[in-house]
Amino acid sequence: MIELTNLTKAYGGKLAVDDLSVTVRPGRVTGFLGPNGAGKSTTLRMILGLNAPSAGTVTVDGVPFATHPRGLRHAGALLDAGDVQGGRTARGHLRVLAASNRIPRDRVEEVLDLAGIGAAAGRRISGFSLGMRQRLGIAAALLGDPPVLLFDEPFNGLDPEGVLWVRELFKSLAAEGRTVFVSSHLMSEMENTAEHLVVIGRGRLIADESLAAFAGRG
Ligand code: ADP
Ligand code: ADP
Repeated sequence: MIELTNLTKAYGGKLAVDDLSVTVRPGRVTGFLGPNGAGKSTTLRMILGLNAPSAGTVTVDGVPFATHPRGLRHAGALLDAGDVQGGRTARGHLRVLAASNRIPRDRVEEVLDLAGIGAAAGRRISGFSLGMRQRLGIAAALLGDPPVLLFDEPFNGLDPEGVLWVRELFKSLAAEGRTVFVSSHLMSEMENTAEHLVVIGRGRLIADESLAAFAGRG
């Protein structure tokens, strides 16, 4: 469960996230929908403790993430897949993350397979397509077997087969009782993916309701 209470982030005089209060529940896929610049990435970074809120609070399963001792074993995330450093191999990248989060090495091979990139594990990330980087980022998010998972624009760069795969992955993670929060700027990506939607625009909450209810607004 993720709880945002009056969460606010200002950059200079501009509010990127404006008084957002939302509870993201476990056991279902929640979509985080809004146009580019709406404040989705800023919100996800605050949930992870990577950006400090200007006001308000975030907790992940009752604990502020920034102080959470379990790190990637508590919340995993795919953020900015295009930014992953290219020098290492996929396996090497995941091994470094595993080591710094006290995750057993065997888990690296498991998540490479879960993400469908086992065959590319020994290749350098610099040669990866965006779709491959997305899969690597998803593998990293799964590494710690966390109860809370955040995915920022995970569909970008995936081929049609990858889109179908990732939808099923999100649903199975939710069916295991995890909290799954998936951002997108496209309603079409949320259909057949999310059961519930948190919709924002210009940093403010527009809707927090089932996808069916939101789609029915016309
Ligand atoms: P989204 O993920 O929905 O596209 P972002 O959270 O990336 O939106 O951005 C929300 C707003 O905050 C945008 O106006 C963006 O330009 C601004 N912003 C994001 N990061 C920074 C930053 N580091 N410094 C200044 N402005 C930022
Ligand atoms: P450090 O340089 O100490 O690793 P980071 O800014 O990379 O600091 O990470 C700060 C905290 O956020 C750590 O607990 C780390 O585990 C967590 N963290 C960093 N990146 C991610 C991510 N992509 N997904 C989940 N947690 C992350």
